[in-house]
Amino acid sequence: MAGKLYLVPTPIGNLGDISRRAAEILEAVDFIAAEDTRVTVKLLNHLGLKKPMTAYHRHNCGTAGPAVLERIQAGENCALVTDAGTPAISDPGEDLVALCAGAGVAVESIPGPCALTVALSVSGLPTARFTFEGFLPLNKKNRWTRLDALRNEERTMVFYEAPHKLRATLEDLAAAFGSDRPLAVCRELTKLHEEVLRLTIGEAAARYAAQEPRGEFVLVIAGLPAQAPAADGEGALARALELRREGLPLKLAAARAAEEFGGKKRAIYDQVLEIEGK
Ligand code: SAM
Repeated sequence: MAGKLYLVPTPIGNLGDISRRAAEILEAVDFIAAEDTRVTVKLLNHLGLKKPMTAYHRHNCGTAGPAVLERIQAGENCALVTDAGTPAISDPGEDLVALCAGAGVAVESIPGPCALTVALSVSGLPTARFTFEGFLPLNKKNRWTRLDALRNEERTMVFYEAPHKLRATLEDLAAAFGSDRPLAVCRELTKLHEEVLRLTIGEAAARYAAQEPRGEFVLVIAGLPAQAPAADGEGALARALELRREGLPLKLAAARAAEEFGGKKRAIYDQVLEIEGK
């Protein structure tokens, strides 16, 4: 019988954040697939555990992934861990999950530390609707395609960034969203020098132009303030167009916009059809 792949989150700074269940799984599995075995051995030492490990990271996932899958299919249980946080969130773990799930192997995710949720929850910005953007692309064209697509984003946006790229990223974010846009710079979360700065993108750019960025960063940026619905039906039309951009079928988009903003489904349907037909 095939084994299971467990996604085991590890602390993003404070070793006390390893959960009892995460530790039990690390103890129970046959082997651990680790992003960096030197980092994981420190955690295992902290827990008083010894366990066979294999490396699974960005540079070897093409060959290491199928090898891990083969061992699981042969009956072994595997825990996937990364250097910090929840595996498969902005790291190559997502490929291993897809590989195993695609092969019909059971995958179980253990809840635990994740830089995204720690930053979002402490940001002071709206959390009801948000979009996780991870790392912005390095390639200039791809980066601006992504930023352009976010210009009218009304949801709170969460980005990961490395310290040596922070200055350039803050400049690009200011150009895309404006210097006055509220931002929470979440640095070294759960660590001794944890810091959460709630300021504007422009203020953050000025601060880090004068001071070398150090540590690990999550940037949480306020979305564009929502447009007030227009009384003349424009609100319903705008909402229907937005829902269409999100991929909703026309009929459903018109019905939902009519429900939210008032107006006749059929009229909204026809207006969208006309605009899209142009
Ligand atoms: N899978 C991990 C997670 O979701 O927590 C994230 C992995 S990603 C490769 C690493 C990025 O997470 C860092 O560049 C940084 O943006 C963010 N990060 C990780 N630990 C952090 C911390 N203690 N404080 C702030 N950001 C952190």
